[in-house]
Amino acid sequence: MSNTASACQDLAPTVDTHSAAPTTDRRFLETEVIETSATEVDTLAAERAVRDLLVALGEDPTDASLRETPRRVAAAFTELLRPQPFQLTTFPNEAGYHEPVIVRDIPVRSLCAHHMLPFIGVAHVAYLPGERIVGLSKLARLVEHFSRRLQVQEQLTAQIADALVEQLRPRGVGVLVSAEHLCMTVRGVRARGTHTTTSALRGLVREDPSLRAELIAELRAQR
Ligand SMILES: [Zn+2]
Repeated sequence: MSNTASACQDLAPTVDTHSAAPTTDRRFLETEVIETSATEVDTLAAERAVRDLLVALGEDPTDASLRETPRRVAAAFTELLRPQPFQLTTFPNEAGYHEPVIVRDIPVRSLCAHHMLPFIGVAHVAYLPGERIVGLSKLARLVEHFSRRLQVQEQLTAQIADALVEQLRPRGVGVLVSAEHLCMTVRGVRARGTHTTTSALRGLVREDPSLRAELIAELRAQR
């Protein structure tokens, strides 16, 4: 992991598409449901705990501005921490496309496991197609899926890469995540504008030095 004070990247999703158009013939579709092991939320217990936290912090939970806070906080955390299962749909690589497919600037919004404060940034995901390709929007869904839990950025980056390896069986995968952690920028050292960059490389992207260098340069390139 390296902390780089690079300029904040544009969050608008842009897609590098040299990818072959997926076939619409449903006989060739393969879908894998990516499940989550998340347990049910005990909403009332969560609301009680927030109320207790307010009291412990010296706040008055009966104050007009705080009366609804336990309910709102419990609802917000429930939304942020419950990944929805989704289907990663893959298609046969009928066009025989073997160059890298790169989707840049996928928004990342997650909660750091150490402080339960948000970290916000972008993910760039690349893969080298093998026998199958994946719908490009599914790469963004994959990032969102693994973001919706208490996370450590290194682990998030690895989980995105490993899920792609497992579900798509590509020849290689490269994932780069660059994010600003509010636990660093609003508290402690208050290092505003600091971005943490993590990467996970798999298969040929890891093993082939020239391919690795080329892809990392492409993933890091400012737009
Ligand atoms: Zn943190």
